Amino acid sequence: MNKRDYYEVLGVKKDATDKEIKSAFRKLAKQYHPDINKAPDAAEKFKECQEAYAVLSDESKRKQYDQYGHDAFNKMNGGAGYDFSDFDFGDIFSEIFGNGFGFGGGRSTQQSRKRRGADAVMRINLTFEEAVYGVKKTINVEVAEDCPICDGKGGKGEKKCSKCHGTGTVTVEQRTLFGAFMSRTVCPSCHGDGVSFESSCSKCHGTGKVHKDTDIEVKIPAGVNTGNQLRLAGKGEAGINGGPNGDLYLEFYVKDHPLYMRDDNDIYLELPITITEAVLGSKREIPTLYGNVKLTIPAGTSSGDKHRLKGKGIEDVRTGNKGDMYVVLNIVIPEKLSKEQKKLFEQLDQTDLRYGTEFKKIEDYLKKNK
Ligand SMILES: [Zn+2]
Ligand SMILES: [Zn+2]
Repeated sequence: MNKRDYYEVLGVKKDATDKEIKSAFRKLAKQYHPDINKAPDAAEKFKECQEAYAVLSDESKRKQYDQYGHDAFNKMNGGAGYDFSDFDFGDIFSEIFGNGFGFGGGRSTQQSRKRRGADAVMRINLTFEEAVYGVKKTINVEVAEDCPICDGKGGKGEKKCSKCHGTGTVTVEQRTLFGAFMSRTVCPSCHGDGVSFESSCSKCHGTGKVHKDTDIEVKIPAGVNTGNQLRLAGKGEAGINGGPNGDLYLEFYVKDHPLYMRDDNDIYLELPITITEAVLGSKREIPTLYGNVKLTIPAGTSSGDKHRLKGKGIEDVRTGNKGDMYVVLNIVIPEKLSKEQKKLFEQLDQTDLRYGTEFKKIEDYLKKNK
């Protein structure tokens, strides 16, 4: 098949200016873009225009083409014409179609070069006490470091990447919702470095990074709670192309305590008391986070009555201010009684214990309801 003349393809004269060539291409690209033009040969025509423009917009390639015709580029790719896969259409396409279509442009190139590694999260289980008082823990993490064999390069015998000619990017056809586009992406061969190696490093398998098991001592402050995170800078995943490592976040999970319930910096203790303690009052020893204390239970206590012990809660992880402790009283009715206890309760029952308005309310209602 005879290849059409590039000037003919773009519909310009042999002595067309750069401006005329560009404007001709813009017009044709809009006309034949597979997104806009659904004719079966549109994609082929679009490609043909791209090829012609890639050559004629480049001063030295245009000169070669003027002198030798299609033969100028044939030795590279077996007679198929100019291979424009390296050509950057990003700018002109974003001019024509706007930037939102996922064209590489210049930005993606930069992003692909040095990139910070991803952040990682590691769950750390803590006992209630460890969370309350703070703790030093030795944590084993895998930290990415530059490979000591290849100095982080990934191989030996550095040379220009042959796929991208050292640019780090290649132009590929990308199929999107809007049709097929030429866009620039990171070179899959060198991952954007622009260099390749005669031999890949066997220690790091070409990644330039080695993972090292490291024990790090972490001081976990007093007062942390489930879901709190502690950042360890630079201990996350390896940076890409020499970028810095990400951070490692330790996320805490605090186990329940058998006695204390935690609500932010306050803690609750449910204290079982006997029926006589509730009626007569008593003094009880209470375990707190800061040692045992005596609590006075007044006579006439009900289940659910709360006593606040100021400052006996948990230290705030930021301010250091302590929360409070609440002792919630719970009258436990004995399920079994000794003969003697039963007798005493029966005697007690002979007396009128119906104290308070609650009893009266029901009795009044019962009378009305008759
Ligand atoms: Zn490459
Ligand atoms: Zn290496």
